[in-house]
Amino acid sequence: MPKPSLTTHRLSLQLLALLISAMGFYQTVNAQQRPTLTAEQQQRMLIHAVADKENLYVIPGFDGGMSGGNVAVLVTEDGVLIVDNKFSYSYLDIMEMVRRVTSQPVRYVLNTHHHADHAGSNASFMPAAQVVAHRNVRKNMLANDLPGVPEILFEQSATIFLGGQEVQSHHFGRGHTDGDSVIFFPQLGAVHTGDLFVWGERLDGSTLAPFIDFANGGSAAQWTATLDRLLALDFDTVIPGHGPILRKADVRVFRSKFDQLLSRVQILIDDGVTRDSIVSAIDIEDLNWPMPATRIEQIYDELIR
Ligand SMILES: [Zn+2]
Repeated sequence: MPKPSLTTHRLSLQLLALLISAMGFYQTVNAQQRPTLTAEQQQRMLIHAVADKENLYVIPGFDGGMSGGNVAVLVTEDGVLIVDNKFSYSYLDIMEMVRRVTSQPVRYVLNTHHHADHAGSNASFMPAAQVVAHRNVRKNMLANDLPGVPEILFEQSATIFLGGQEVQSHHFGRGHTDGDSVIFFPQLGAVHTGDLFVWGERLDGSTLAPFIDFANGGSAAQWTATLDRLLALDFDTVIPGHGPILRKADVRVFRSKFDQLLSRVQILIDDGVTRDSIVSAIDIEDLNWPMPATRIEQIYDELIR
């Protein structure tokens, strides 16, 4: 057999990477299919620098269906740390974006939670990078038969030093799931919140609203207390789970809207409104959080306990 040329070697490496992500694809319970995006949508998903935060970049994500979650990229002279990694098919896309800003290897991957639009390509990163997550991310990924289960876990917080940069991952309590982490860059004054904080519109133009994953330990009742611990951190710039880069004041706005949602459900419970009539009785139009009826009913169920 002839010695394989450099080109075929490269090609087989690419095939291997494709195979690895394809394996992840087939193991995923909710099969993910790469959507067809318009040129304008693709343009919105290009990596860009976070203003005034040296060496911090974002690969944008606006929804759980088409663009995935926001990926934060911290570049140091000793390697790259990323927060979240979109879908099972996103590995090569993310690496292409990272290669636009650095030739350093990705050494750490932090998961904000287990969902397949945030931790979907863990498995593809794991041969070369350490994936670090809260213990319940592992629990939830095993329970949902998701690939790329993290092996380095923490209960309260984990700190990574890389190339002179400190990165902290904090579990502040339940909210979107029971394994949510907030990633804090103390030297930069920036956070990635995961889906504890989402904002704005999806790529299809519909409006994002908080989702409480009750099946995976999420809690509406505890969400604002979890946000209060996030707000105690010293930061000015926020990368939400989905949506544009925002300011700390926007997290306060989100928290107050969430508090309104809870107190309106609670007032109706106190007035004796039944589960069957909660959706017709509540008015949350002004919050601009479109929600399916089941979500309101689940919040009712949690608060009436
Ligand atoms: Zn999520």
